[in-house]
Parts: sequence; C-alpha cells; structure tokens
Amino acid sequence: MNRFITAAVAGVMLAGASHAGVTEEEIRNDQSVTSQIVTNGMGRHLQRFSPLDTLNKENIHKMVPAWAFSLGGEKQRGQETQPLIYDGVMYITGSYSRVYAIDVNTGEELWQYDARLPEGILPCCDVINRGGAIYGDNFYFGTLDARIVALDLKTGDVKWRKKIADYKAGYSYTAAPLIVDGLVVTGNSGGEFGIIGEVQARDAETGELVWTRPVIEGHMGTLNGEESTMTGTLNATWPGDMWKTGGGATWLGGSYDADTNTLVFGAGNPAPWNSHLRNAGTPTEGNKGDNLYAASRIGIDPKTGEIKWHFQTTPREGWDYDGVNEVVAYTDREGNKRFATADRNGFFYVLNREDGAFVSATPFVKDISWASGIDETGRPIFVEENRPGNPADAADGKKGDVIFASPSFLGGKNWMPMAFSQRTGNFYVPSNEWGMDIWNEPISYKKGAAYLGAGFTIKPNYEDHIGSLKAIDPDTGEIKWEFKNDAPLWGGVMTTAGGLVFTGTPEGKFIAFDDETGEELWSFQTGSGIVGQPVTWEQDGEQYVSIVSGWGGAVPLWGGEVAKKVNYLNQGGMVWTFKLPKELAAAN
Ligand code: CA
Repeated sequence: MNRFITAAVAGVMLAGASHAGVTEEEIRNDQSVTSQIVTNGMGRHLQRFSPLDTLNKENIHKMVPAWAFSLGGEKQRGQETQPLIYDGVMYITGSYSRVYAIDVNTGEELWQYDARLPEGILPCCDVINRGGAIYGDNFYFGTLDARIVALDLKTGDVKWRKKIADYKAGYSYTAAPLIVDGLVVTGNSGGEFGIIGEVQARDAETGELVWTRPVIEGHMGTLNGEESTMTGTLNATWPGDMWKTGGGATWLGGSYDADTNTLVFGAGNPAPWNSHLRNAGTPTEGNKGDNLYAASRIGIDPKTGEIKWHFQTTPREGWDYDGVNEVVAYTDREGNKRFATADRNGFFYVLNREDGAFVSATPFVKDISWASGIDETGRPIFVEENRPGNPADAADGKKGDVIFASPSFLGGKNWMPMAFSQRTGNFYVPSNEWGMDIWNEPISYKKGAAYLGAGFTIKPNYEDHIGSLKAIDPDTGEIKWEFKNDAPLWGGVMTTAGGLVFTGTPEGKFIAFDDETGEELWSFQTGSGIVGQPVTWEQDGEQYVSIVSGWGGAVPLWGGEVAKKVNYLNQGGMVWTFKLPKELAAAN
C-alpha cells in the first residue's frame, strides 16, 4: 500500500479514536494544548502556567464576566476545586462530594452528581474537594467517605465506585486524582486520626487495584494483589509499635514528572502530633526518631509502586508541618531539571529531579522559630527550646511547656497551590505569616478518634496582614515582590505568558497581578471568599479565565484567634468565568 494512504488512514483512525475521550497523550500535553484543561495543575508537573498571551498586561483591565454558575442548595462552603475543560464542557467538583458538568458557552448545567455520604464521616478540615481528573470517557473524583468514583463524562452516571479506605477509622479523600498511563493514582486523608498514609494505583477502566504503597516504614506494599516490598526498614526510625498508627496522610495527591517517569507524593505529619511519643532516643542520637517517611516527599515508580527516593523536610516533626505540599517539576535558568516545593515548615526547597537530592532551601516566610536554617544536607538545624515541651517532664505529667512556634500548624503555606512562570522563571507562592501557642499532652490511639496529643491557638504575627503572595526566584530564594492581604490566603495561583499572575482572597477579590512588579492590574469581587484554583483556556480566539468562589476550608474551623478575625466572611458556591470579548479587545 502507498505509504501516504496509510498515513491518511491512520490520521482518520486517530480522529475517530479521539471520540473515545481523553488520551494519555492529551494528558501529557495538557500545558501546551490551550483549548482544554484535562489535568489538575494545568499539566501533571503542576506548574499552573498557561502559554496563552491573548490576555496580557495591556488589555487585562478590559476583562469582564462571561457567565456565573451557582453550586446551589444549602451546601455553600469550602469550594477549593479547580475546573477542568473538555469538549465544550466545564467539570467541577463541589464541597460535600458533588460534581457538576456545565456548558462552557452558556454556563448552564448539563448534569450533577451528588455522592450519598454516610453518617459519621470524619473530614478533619471541612467538607471540601480539590478537583477531579479526566481520562477516556470518565471523570474521576474522590469522596469524603474515602472512595474513588468514575463517572460517565456525558451523563454523570456511575461507571464504578471503589473504597480507598475505611472512613470509620478516620480516612477521607479530598485531592484531585492523578492519571498516568492508564492508572488512576490517589492518596488519602486523615492524618489527625492515626491512619496510615498510602498511595494507590488502579486500572482506570475497571477500578481494580494495581499497586499500593504505604508511606510509613514497616508497612507492606502490594502489586497485582500480592505483597510486594516493605516500606523502609522496620523500627529504623520509629520506636516500638508507633509506626502502626504513624500518620503520614498523602492528602494533597501528587504530581508526575514525565522526564524521569516519577510520581511524587507528599506525606503529612507523623501521628500523634506529640513528637516525644515517637522519639526513639535523645535528639542527639542520629536519626532514630526521624519517623520516616512522614513529613517527606517521596518519588515512586508508577509501574510498580516502589519508592525511588525520598526527601524528608521535617524529621521528628512536632508542629504539624505536613510534608504534603505540591512538588513542581521545572527547568531552572541554567537548564537544570529541578523540583520546587514550599513546605508547611516555612522553607522553600529546590531538589534534583533525577533523584530527589537536596539542592537548596530558603525561608519564604518571616519569623521561623523551630529551626535556625537548613544545613547542606537538607536537614533542619533545630532550635530545641522551640519544640513543645514533653508532658512527661511536667509535675503532673499532663501538659508540657507551652511554646510559641512560627509558622503556625496551618503552615507558611498550606494546600493552596503555587505557580511557576516559564516567562519569568519565578515561583508565585501563596503564603501566610502566622504563629501559634502549642503544647503537648499524653494521648493513646483509639480508632476514629483524633490522635494529636497537642493543643494550640493560632495567632497573627503582624497587625496589617496574614496573607502574603510572594514572587520567589528559585535560584536564590530572593523575594522579588510581595502582596500582603489582611486574611490568610487559601486559594491557588496561576501564571500566564501574558505576564499575569492570578489569585483570589478570602475577602472575595479575584486579582490579576503584573508578574514582574506585583502591581494589581485587574480585580473582581466574587461575593464570597476565594479558596479555589484559577484556570485559563481559549476558544474561538478568546481567552477565558475561571475561578470558583466559596469561603470555607480549614481556617474558619481551626484558625483560633485568626478564625475570629475572619468570621465576618460569607460562605458561597459560585463559578465565575471571565473573558475579554473580541470587540472590546479590538476597541482601543
Ligand atoms: Ca496534619
């Protein structure tokens, strides 16, 4: 056969195949294909950078709303999701484990799915959901009763529904699933209940488990239904049986670096919070009390679930500095392949993408009290007197010394994703300047009960702001500009090739900044606090921007004195979609 005819036939088949939904190739190219968004993070490296420049510094002031959509009902709180855009439809998840399909041209609802949640679910930090995934003809998302659900993209009908873990033991699920080579990869939530953090990979078509990888040393992984390997070395860094309820929730999901074929997941705090109960020896006794792999980033082989490398940000963690914050793959100005992550503990880390090896760490918030810095191996230089005191040292044995720690347990940065700009080479990090009084108490594990052994009260560090969006040069750690906000920032950030940085505030303002100066170029009041994640795409020659507005999340629930400061903010649940109409763009 003539080879040109063969090619033509192959082309037709490819076009035909695209009706079968989103392919691995489309997922791989999500950043460069600007007409759709099929991944959380606008690309699996989570850069949240769009190459679009139709909207730019010169014309952004003319951007106007195109449509808005209400999530309806009485469930109006904690909208932390990121919209996905595919084939003329926007897909969003809502709080209380809901999903909406919306006509992207009109803003009209096509279908809605409400997961029926059982009594007794135990979400630690509000009833939120952080987004879904698309692969083939399915939309995937997780529920507060720790299940993963595949829905038909066109109808919202359930294709399959699988249990990730037992919600009665404190497990839940809130992160966006990650799709890699036909696998749906998920973490789990519940780090305040003595659960075991785990990463699971399932066949996307059937939902059957392919592998599991617990992230606390001593626990066994599985591959194709059989035991594979043990995570770490039993009792190497955990005393006695403490590893059995050791925490390390993988609650923020993961990223994927295609260059090194590595999944990167973060593990949360070791359980319980009271670090004295997990310390195998004195602080000077090597790494016996490090509690691997809690408060760590972990590189995983997507085929087998084997751990390729780990980097622990906070060994012997004692302040709830979860190590889950997103790890963003990027290439630095000299062409080095790097990862960057802004940890709860207040330090911005750069790692080598090949092996997760430490490159540098610099503080991205002020007043860090628990460590005086990070040494050349990546290990914190602890300030021991700023660790909460051991209750066993108290006269009554009930409450250890109260200390003031900064950042607070909600972190220099929490879940809200930062963005990288390929235009400036900088990261844009939503951070918070706050501290806490914290103390330790005795605690023993009880299934389904909070397992902390700690008490705390969060306090602002400054009168005039808590929130602080920072432009950070990853090569030097230098802060190029800062936007201060009264309330703590809790929403995601996005950058564009048009030189724009988008984020929202709990006060409801959706803002576009100049990526070089931090100047506010445009803003819009969305009516409720923004804790969602912005996206942008193009259709018919116009660039669209969307954000979901709806105040909630951990701050109002756990924020101590800060929660009182923001209790005037109204809840909500609304998608706002903006564009610069062609006519307006042409009119100068
Ligand atoms: Ca935690």
